[in-house]
Amino acid sequence: SSPSAADLLDGLNEPQRQAVLHEGPPLLIIAGAGSGKTRVLTQRIAYQISERNIHPGQILAITFTNKAAAEMRERVGAVVGGRARAMWVLTFHSACLRILRREHELVGLKSSFTVYDSDDSRRLMTQIAREMELDKRTNPRGLLADISKLKNELIDVETAAGAAASDREKTVVEAYRRYTQRLRLAQALDFDDIIGVTVDLFRNHPVIAREYRRRFRHVLVDEYQDTNHAQYELIRLLVGDDSDPEVPASSLCVVGDADQSIYAFRGATIRNILEFERDYPNARTILLEQNYRSTQTILDAANAVITKNPGRRDKQLWTDVGGGDKIIRYDADNEHDEALWVADRIDELSDAGVRPADIAVFYRTNAQSRVFEDAFIRRGLPYKVVGGVRFYERREVRDALAYLKLTVNPDDSVSARRVVNVPKRGVGDRAVACVDVLADTKLLSFGAALERADEAIGMSARAKTGIDKFVKVVQAGRAMVEAGEPPETVLETLLTDSGYLVELEASTDPQDEARVENLRELVSVAREYSERVDMGDFDDGETDEPQSPTVAGFLEQVSLVADADQIPDNDDGSGVVTLMTLHTAKGLEFDVVFLSGLDQGVFPHERSMNDPAEMEEERRLAYVGITRARKQLHVSRAETRSAWGQPQFHPPSQFLEELPRELIDVARIKAPPGLSRPLRPQRGGGGGGGFGTMITSAAEPKDVPVLDVGDRVNHDRFGMGRVLEVKGTGPRAQALIDFGDDPKWLVVRHAPVTKL
Ligand code: ATP
Ligand code: MG
Repeated sequence: SSPSAADLLDGLNEPQRQAVLHEGPPLLIIAGAGSGKTRVLTQRIAYQISERNIHPGQILAITFTNKAAAEMRERVGAVVGGRARAMWVLTFHSACLRILRREHELVGLKSSFTVYDSDDSRRLMTQIAREMELDKRTNPRGLLADISKLKNELIDVETAAGAAASDREKTVVEAYRRYTQRLRLAQALDFDDIIGVTVDLFRNHPVIAREYRRRFRHVLVDEYQDTNHAQYELIRLLVGDDSDPEVPASSLCVVGDADQSIYAFRGATIRNILEFERDYPNARTILLEQNYRSTQTILDAANAVITKNPGRRDKQLWTDVGGGDKIIRYDADNEHDEALWVADRIDELSDAGVRPADIAVFYRTNAQSRVFEDAFIRRGLPYKVVGGVRFYERREVRDALAYLKLTVNPDDSVSARRVVNVPKRGVGDRAVACVDVLADTKLLSFGAALERADEAIGMSARAKTGIDKFVKVVQAGRAMVEAGEPPETVLETLLTDSGYLVELEASTDPQDEARVENLRELVSVAREYSERVDMGDFDDGETDEPQSPTVAGFLEQVSLVADADQIPDNDDGSGVVTLMTLHTAKGLEFDVVFLSGLDQGVFPHERSMNDPAEMEEERRLAYVGITRARKQLHVSRAETRSAWGQPQFHPPSQFLEELPRELIDVARIKAPPGLSRPLRPQRGGGGGGGFGTMITSAAEPKDVPVLDVGDRVNHDRFGMGRVLEVKGTGPRAQALIDFGDDPKWLVVRHAPVTKL
């Protein structure tokens, strides 16, 4: 039977319990990693529904990923049952899209509006940069990043124009103006707009804001440290204040950890926490200090790294589970050596009974995953890389989605341009330019102008025929959408009627075969979506009428897929090892963690080396990585790494060097040249009941001397010594050697020792 809410309270510590039970003024829970913030939030919702009779429909909970939302909904559902469906547990973007789908008219959008993802935005900006005749050094990505910052600060075009001083700023403002117009014409919103337009909606229509406030009496936000200003403002508007006696302020509970703020580049700032205390002067703050995730060793390592950040509120994480295994450090010769060591170590752990599902490998940037993939394939380990070049970024998938988007939103210019001549229909650049002129003179979107291409001046008959074919395909798709056909059916028809599939199937290029498979996969994704809708997964708890699958709904799902949503569920069987960037790892936990690429210039990233603020963010990222581990942490680096085909030398990361020596078991260590530091491997294991620490390596085989007690040896750096003790054999042999001062344990295979 499911646990009752009272049972659940039993497991909580005192401050956690207070956080669950708190009523009244806003509640801010600021606490370190693994202290149960997410758990408290979930519990609080369950408690309010089951013990305080709050209607689930009055709850709005914001999580950082769709996956986290699904988990939270499931956990609450386990306590309160099917009623949990009526809650909104969503990311900021999904929640705002849901609101805008209903209120689109008030913000001047047609019901057919669509979402531009980052690739769509980039295409649009590239086109704008060309029109503005910007010189080649002005990177569209850079412009978009600047515009995104403005939007996250809720600065509109006019305000930005008033403040622009430098040439660069003026260029950005002009690009911003054109970009905004184009999005409007295309009936499209980019990611930042999803939030910003919702804020505008609430600001300009207090009545609507009040309606939502009346509905959501309880607002909760996880990972609060990573909200940006626009998101902050959205919450403020949703919660309101007590000036309206009929609809007093909603109850608000936010949880976060300032030390885990890792999205400054998306506009998140510590300011949100400070602003919170200013805007809600009666707020109550609860601190959680006990950590339930990790061993003390891991927490000490995390503390050692994060305390070096200036200006933070000091808090020390502690646990009562004990010290546990030491951190294992491995210094590889190069990235391949590092990856093979990780793979071999995982192999050993599997032999010792650890499930691959409980293991994760983290790195700083996506590009680092490839070498791990090679090593895992060589060792036959099951794994999944999360992020990187994603399914939805593949050319054929994007083409197919462009067709689909056009059936919903005829004004979507980026999509129309993308596929008007795919497959080839004789619609060249010149024809496109003619359509552009038509669009400009008649004030139409590019998509709408295509439908009136016969009015275009100077276009060849062949191009006109091509455009005509294209328009007919899209219109047929649109008719299917209007008839309520599910997305998988519409998609299949479009792919067939457009000639897209036929062309790929006729091709002898093996890549095209893979493309056909990807399209088949996309159709399956659409079918799965439809099935989930039919099963009620997308009910918003408002109407009793069952929802039906739509193309628009499917596209929305796709546009909101984030890296973290692809993390394998790993529920059945032993699962797979997960490989991901540190950013994606936020909020997650694994028994065993490999923190790789701890090279100065890789992590911390070289870009951050001369910027104290960025360096602080890198440090927080290291803190996030370390605190994901429950039982055992591995840290590794590679002395050289190839970049642009050349080996680059990297000294050890400063974060690696800051880990207290006594917490570390050295599998292999290399001192940077010129710096001769004593090597002090320590004996493995040590309490905590974790996994046995076996120290091995996958470095190139060399002649390993077979040592016995009493043997005399010469070490390249320490000189002459005598073997006191030996354990392990072959590649795993370690020897305790007396060099005259403290005896040292060395992994024989890697120590520069020769037997005399
Ligand atoms: P992060 O900062 O990484 O997001 P968090 O503060 O949200 O971490 P949780 O993920 O909620 O922490 O909790 C970490 C782990 O500790 C989870 O496995 C959770 O189930 C467990 N935990 C939290 N509180 C308790 C408790 N009172 N008793 C037992 N386990 C707990
Ligand atoms: Mg959490």
